[in-house]
Amino acid sequence: MRKISFTFIVLFLITQKQFAQFVQEPLPYPYDALEPYVDAQTMQIHYGKHHLAYINNLNAGLKAINMEKKTDIIDILNHVSSYNVTIRNNAGGHYNHAFFWTLLGPEKKLMPSEKLEKAINKQFGSMDKFKEQFINEGMMRFGSGWVWLIVDANGNLAITSTPNQDNPLMDDAPVKGKPILSIDVWEHAYYLKYQNKRKDYLLAIWQVINWKKVSEYYDEITQ
Ligand code: MN
Repeated sequence: MRKISFTFIVLFLITQKQFAQFVQEPLPYPYDALEPYVDAQTMQIHYGKHHLAYINNLNAGLKAINMEKKTDIIDILNHVSSYNVTIRNNAGGHYNHAFFWTLLGPEKKLMPSEKLEKAINKQFGSMDKFKEQFINEGMMRFGSGWVWLIVDANGNLAITSTPNQDNPLMDDAPVKGKPILSIDVWEHAYYLKYQNKRKDYLLAIWQVINWKKVSEYYDEITQ
C-alpha cells in the first residue's frame, strides 16, 4: 500500500513537471482581503479563472511549438517578437497577473520607501501629482490593457501603458523598462463592482497598493 502511494506521488510529480512548466503561485492573501476596494468575487474569478487560463494556454502554446522547456518568463518576454501571438498574449497574461497580485495587499496606510518617494517627487513633482498622472494614463488606455510605473534604461521612473497583455519587458514595446507597479485596466478587473466606472476602480484600488513591495522592486532594480 505504501509502495503504491509512493509510486503514485512520484508519477504525479513527474507528470506535473513535464506538462506544467508554468504553475500558478498561491494568492498572497484571501480573496476577500481587498474588500471593499476589490470585491472577493472579482478576485476569485480574476485569479482562479483568467490568470489560470493564461498559464494553461501558455503551457499548451509552448508545447505546440516544442518549446515546453522554456521556463524563464522574463526571457520569453524579452524575445517575444520571435514567438507567435498565442505565446505573446499568454506569456504576457501570466507575467502581468503574477506580478499584479504581489502589488496589492490588505495592509493599510503603507507608503513608498524614502528612496522611492524621493524619486517620485523628483520625476512627477509630488505623490499626488504622480497618482493623478498614473490614474490618468489608466483612463487614457483605450480598451483592455495595463498601466505601469517603470524604471527606464537611464534609471528614471516613467509612467506608461500597454494594450492587451503586452508589457514594458517586451522587446518590441514602444516604451521599455522594468516594472515596479502596474494596474490591470481590463474590464474583467472591475466590471462586477464598478461596471463602466474605470476611474472609481482606479481610485479604489489605489487604497490597497502594497507600497512595501513596490519599494522592494525599486530597490532591486536600482541598488
Ligand atoms: Mn486581468
